[in-house]
Amino acid sequence: LRQKNTASLSSFAFAQERIRECLSIHDCGRSSISRLLEIARLDLPKRLLDLGDNIKLVDNVQSDWNYAALSYCWGVYELNAINLKSNDTSATTTPDFLKRFSLTTSSTISKHMENIPIEVLPKTIRDAIAITRRLGIQYLWVDCLCIIQDSDIDWEIESPKMGTIYHRAKVTISVDRGDNMDSGCFNDSDNVRSFAANQSLLKFGQHNFQSNGQAIYFREYSKGEGIRVFNSTTVDLIKKSQEDPFNHALGSRLESRAWCFQERVLSSRILHYSMSQLYWECDHCFEPEDPSLSFKVSKNGASLYSPLFTSRRASLELTNNTDLIMTWCYHMLEDYCGRKVTFPSDRLPAISSIARLFNLQLQTEYVAGIFASVVHVGLAWAAQNPQAPPDNAEQNGLPSFSWISRAENRIRWHRFNFRDRINTCQFENAEISRRSQDLYGAIETAKLTIRGRFIEISLKVSPSQEGLPRWSGSDIAATCLVSGILDGESQSRIGHAWLDFLGFESQNAIFLELYSETDPSSLMRSIGILLRPASTTTYLRFGIAKVSMYADEFEAQCGNGAITIV
Ligand SMILES: [Zn+2]
Repeated sequence: LRQKNTASLSSFAFAQERIRECLSIHDCGRSSISRLLEIARLDLPKRLLDLGDNIKLVDNVQSDWNYAALSYCWGVYELNAINLKSNDTSATTTPDFLKRFSLTTSSTISKHMENIPIEVLPKTIRDAIAITRRLGIQYLWVDCLCIIQDSDIDWEIESPKMGTIYHRAKVTISVDRGDNMDSGCFNDSDNVRSFAANQSLLKFGQHNFQSNGQAIYFREYSKGEGIRVFNSTTVDLIKKSQEDPFNHALGSRLESRAWCFQERVLSSRILHYSMSQLYWECDHCFEPEDPSLSFKVSKNGASLYSPLFTSRRASLELTNNTDLIMTWCYHMLEDYCGRKVTFPSDRLPAISSIARLFNLQLQTEYVAGIFASVVHVGLAWAAQNPQAPPDNAEQNGLPSFSWISRAENRIRWHRFNFRDRINTCQFENAEISRRSQDLYGAIETAKLTIRGRFIEISLKVSPSQEGLPRWSGSDIAATCLVSGILDGESQSRIGHAWLDFLGFESQNAIFLELYSETDPSSLMRSIGILLRPASTTTYLRFGIAKVSMYADEFEAQCGNGAITIV
């Protein structure tokens, strides 16, 4: 068991050996992601930090330069950063952190092109510079230095390149342990204590561990976080308790941040600086620094531990649009939603590089996070833990049809084989008001018009969710019973609904069908979204429902036409 600091010689030796092995033996970084990025012809970053004797920014970046990229949390400084980009000219006061640290702004850029004294940089960046130099890499890409922080124009040019920047980096330094730009990369060795126990049965929390006479080793991950067990039986024990060793290993603020998601998905090689030790991740393997950890994972075995790990690579090797959109929803968005952003408007920009990549193949309009040609799949989501709508604005300003309006929650897409279903609705058109030129960037408003079949239904809010069906294999229970309205009078139960918000009274709604399947007895099962009027011409989505009716009955009642959702 290693008990050393991640700044130790042995940690650097581990890092160097993994990079060497990956570059010489694996084919990492030459995957289908690379091919797609080549098609996209995204440029190199405009600037890199040159870590020669004298640290400075350089802007004539060449494609054969080796650089590392940094993935980290701004933390509290992110809130300060908004002052920098604010158009409010009365905000003339310099944010506090700029008095302590020298980031790149329009007033510091010319100085930074000549020399950046290391002591004016936040600790996380100083550590990243030390790591990059010790790995023998000359250049480093860090957003707060390589992008002009108070320039919207520079942000608009540089942020679409994010996918290429991380993918082409020789290695991404991922600061999993820190929660802000001043917390540093290396662990606190006090937290890495381990000891052996020879008792045959040990009890920790709800778990009993049997040692079979062998010593069991324990390591504390972080203060107050409890003790995890690592020996040859570790993975079994952790699996039994439904815990994901990777989440514990990485288990960090970084992993809960929306912006860090695409940095991890698109990087070819990552060195994770965690609380306890280094982890290596590349297209080929995920490997802990501590060789006594038994979960060295290779490509085939990886899905058990980290769905992201296999899915992100597998996803872009698909050629079929239906498979691709299922990967976008299941493996990308389900992991992405629930991660934190400081501003709700960051939801689209923080996943824009991945969306751009998917659309190289889908080749369709991108409407507030929904790909138009497969709109029936994109809309088939339900939000976990729906809350009452906020008092001030019902939809936090984001379009109700899109997952971005509810993405502070975890979101689950309907699980089935879309290839076997009949898609009964089609994208007609969209009106989007964007904040920038970037088609995948932040939006002000969006309207989506869909052509399809719809019926009027009646929703009865259920007093308890006990015993009600779950949403497609998830733990999201139905919140409403759905009745069909026949002849305006008689009502019969036809299904269940899952509301996006709680706090609605029982009411009538429009059920807009997304897709359906019909069994041999002509019983039809449909998935559709629930709509209520927003104005005389537009509707708001407020939930999703599953209904079951005979096909002829549905057809006798349904309308058919274009509906605009805001
Ligand atoms: Zn590799």
